[in-house]
Amino acid sequence: MPRRFDQSELVIASHNNGKVREIGDLLRPFSITVTSAEALGLPEPEETGTTFAENAALKAHASTAGSGLPALADDSGFSVAALDGAPGIHAGRFAERDNGIRDFDWAMEQLHEASQNAGNDLAWFTCALALAWPDGHTEIFEGRIAGALVWPPRGSTGFGYDPVFVPEGHTETFGEMSPDSKHAISHRAIAFRKMIEACFADSNG
Ligand code: IMP
Repeated sequence: MPRRFDQSELVIASHNNGKVREIGDLLRPFSITVTSAEALGLPEPEETGTTFAENAALKAHASTAGSGLPALADDSGFSVAALDGAPGIHAGRFAERDNGIRDFDWAMEQLHEASQNAGNDLAWFTCALALAWPDGHTEIFEGRIAGALVWPPRGSTGFGYDPVFVPEGHTETFGEMSPDSKHAISHRAIAFRKMIEACFADSNG
């Protein structure tokens, strides 16, 4: 049985304001005071795990250790079948050029070329959420959405690899969809739904 979340405060283990706002919005119905790792001045740990779940847990526990409060972390990435699931957990770093600056136009083109050479356009996004308690307990939830890597990139509403990804059963890329449409089906939304159901939702329905 997953542990229920009955605390009144939660740290979002992220220094990304967009992520903190999005997670805060999703948790609003549950009357929890939400703060962020950045607001508390907590350091960002190095992501040394080999899976999304490990990296999410590592980030969440760094925040519980630094604050004494429960924490929620998200780790996500993009995978292509032509590269056996790479760049996966390294999706952010994969986009870094020699000067250290992230260049997603360049990164998307690298992935497109690999897919074309392999004759395989299957791709997917993954999100792992780790909810960690100060006593060391962790609950992990994962969401994944599969689709096709398309070329050329289309749309500018999203971020990262959104413009080259068309989810299965759809025609628009994540970059063309409205934020609400993306958030209804995304890897992050799937993981969130699982977490809310297991740890937050009223058990009486
Ligand atoms: P991190 O989880 O903050 O380490 O970032 C993971 C990386 O995966 C991001 O920098 C993006 O490149 C990619 N990524 C994760 N989720 C999405 C998404 O919803 N759309 C586009 N790119 C994403």
